[in-house]
Amino acid sequence: MATAVSTVAGEDGHRMQDLSQMIPGPILLLGAPGVGKGTQAKELVKLWGIPQISTGDLLRANVKNGTELGKMANEIMQKGQLVPDTLVNEMVALRLTDPDVKRGFILDGFPRTLVQADWLDERLAKKSGAPAGIQPDSLANTPAGSLPVVAVSIQVDYTQLLRRITGRRNCPVCQTIYNIYLQPPKVDGICDVEGAALVQRSDDTEKCFEGRMLTYQSLTAPVVEHYRALSRFAEVNGDQSVADVAAGIVSSVERLRG
Ligand code: AMP
Repeated sequence: MATAVSTVAGEDGHRMQDLSQMIPGPILLLGAPGVGKGTQAKELVKLWGIPQISTGDLLRANVKNGTELGKMANEIMQKGQLVPDTLVNEMVALRLTDPDVKRGFILDGFPRTLVQADWLDERLAKKSGAPAGIQPDSLANTPAGSLPVVAVSIQVDYTQLLRRITGRRNCPVCQTIYNIYLQPPKVDGICDVEGAALVQRSDDTEKCFEGRMLTYQSLTAPVVEHYRALSRFAEVNGDQSVADVAAGIVSSVERLRG
């Protein structure tokens, strides 16, 4: 990556690099529901100081605020199906005009179809053509503007995913993610940080999970293959500690950035 860095000790004793001055560029986190894309995106936000853009979070905010998009999306989300490409693409396009994406951004849960992937590739493509970079009209002359997309796919097996999904609980205030089986809060049902009552996403049930996995296999797995076929792609084993998965992603991105 662009800048030389010093190392600092992480909370768990890992030697973590100070990556806040780096230019990570556009990063895609790919993988099935429950592999930990959201958790990892939050780790990378802390390390790199670039924003997480989660289409699931943006859609849930629309549902909560009762917008037209939210009303349309809610029923689809409850069935574990995908919101139409054009709506999601527009939402992402708007988010990419915010100034905080100048050093890069982490797309979490997008693209989820080949149509979305093609849209993104085109949107981020330099006028001069491949390799893809950030579209000049939204991010012209930014430090990340010349960097191509790097895609990282997180792998976790099906049984583990089911436990992760059905055990997942979120703090509605600080958005910290817990798991009642794997990473429980100190007090049952209460956020360690905020003291707020934890909530379960309404689509984190076993029934909905099955639907989301079917959707993933038919529509999103081809997106992983699309980026695998491009040269800037890595797979990381998601069945490790949060810190180890994050370290795997960071080293993959550094290697792919060359
Ligand atoms: P997530 O929080 O990423 O698991 O997303 C929750 C739900 O939001 C998904 O099951 C979809 O219904 C919807 N959603 C999120 N991202 C997308 C996307 N890129 N395309 C279509 N629907 C999406």
